[in-house]
Amino acid sequence: MSSYYSQVFDRRPSVGVDVGGVKIGGSAPIVVQSMTNTDTADIDATVAQVAALHQAGSEIVRITVDRDESAAAVPKIRERLERLGLDVPLVGDFHYIGHKLLADHPACAEALAKYRINPGNVGFKDKKDKQFAQIIEMAIRNDKPVRIGVNWGSLDQVLLTRLMDENHDKGGPLSAQEVMQEAIVQSALLSADLAEEIGLPRERIILSAKVSQVQDLIAVYTELARRSDHALHLGLTEAGMGSKGIVASSAALSIVLQQGIGDTIRISLTPEPGGDRTREVQVAQELLQVMGFRQFVPVVAACPGCGRTTSTVFQELAQKIEDDLRRNMPVWRDKYPGVETLNVAVMGCIVNGPGESKHADIGISLPGTGESPAAPVFVDGKKVKTLRGPNIASDFEAMVDAYIANRFGNTGQEDPNAA
Ligand code: SF4
Repeated sequence: MSSYYSQVFDRRPSVGVDVGGVKIGGSAPIVVQSMTNTDTADIDATVAQVAALHQAGSEIVRITVDRDESAAAVPKIRERLERLGLDVPLVGDFHYIGHKLLADHPACAEALAKYRINPGNVGFKDKKDKQFAQIIEMAIRNDKPVRIGVNWGSLDQVLLTRLMDENHDKGGPLSAQEVMQEAIVQSALLSADLAEEIGLPRERIILSAKVSQVQDLIAVYTELARRSDHALHLGLTEAGMGSKGIVASSAALSIVLQQGIGDTIRISLTPEPGGDRTREVQVAQELLQVMGFRQFVPVVAACPGCGRTTSTVFQELAQKIEDDLRRNMPVWRDKYPGVETLNVAVMGCIVNGPGESKHADIGISLPGTGESPAAPVFVDGKKVKTLRGPNIASDFEAMVDAYIANRFGNTGQEDPNAA
């Protein structure tokens, strides 16, 4: 029997989908995705950004396919990525004319690992079902999975109006917001049913239902998960910039993930002008890691600092260690298997420094204001050294490097940090 203190996360059972060799749903770990913001027709820029996103940890990357030039560029982008040794699956994002682009550009249809379509704008009036069917048939012919991605900003208006009318006829038991949520869920489920009727296997369908408000997202995904076993892609759309976007996405996704719902996530951050697109990948990884679902990079525990730390030494050291660990991870993942489980502590003074450092694999307690200029270092819970002098930071970095090489490198060398 599990108690509050030994909560286990039971993931909702879902049908697994293979996306270019990356498994989504079933028993697979929750997958991190991202999307480029380059013009896909600009092959150089798109290859560079896909590479950067993948190297930052994005396991699947979505690109816009909005016109002939973009569709024509897709196989060339795929080829360039292969030449760079990057086998990251590419997902094509189609709106309005996806059926035509896929038909006119068979090499694009082949090069993509998945098609993402939005049932709200796949076509209008009598063309809607026909064009939806054309895309699904294309996916069947090319053995590709499809993400049916409903978005509240482009919700099927015919469906929404019908549900609003029905609710009105029943005396309005649901609020307009609840009807909208139901329309989003129904749009996803009805489209999935239609895709299956056309012949797309359940193992090739992923659903998403993106909204921009945290409470709407929780309600919609909870209901979608209750009524379907399709693999689910989670994301708060138009989350916004900076801390607001990170907080809103984390708040919404963490509640849904905690219920065991969600097989792949994307954090839709608006980058600041000139900002780094890979930030969304970092946030997605950090969210999954802090919740205990996956481990991507070593954890650096650092105290927030207070009046006992009047210098910035420990902040700089914590930042530097974190940056170094993240920068080295693409190489270390292969060189030092398991390094992502490492815990490092960088603490500002004696109050919590030694205690926190003892709990880490390797930790340092820097001298606070008024303390003697000495920094004890703890390795595997034991104090192994006291660093002094102007090179405390670089000496500690060297100890962290040596610890990683010894513990995860299987070099057979003696641990220079050993007590
Ligand atoms: S460990 Fe020391 S410096 Fe850091 S927050 Fe606690 S009291 Fe302040």
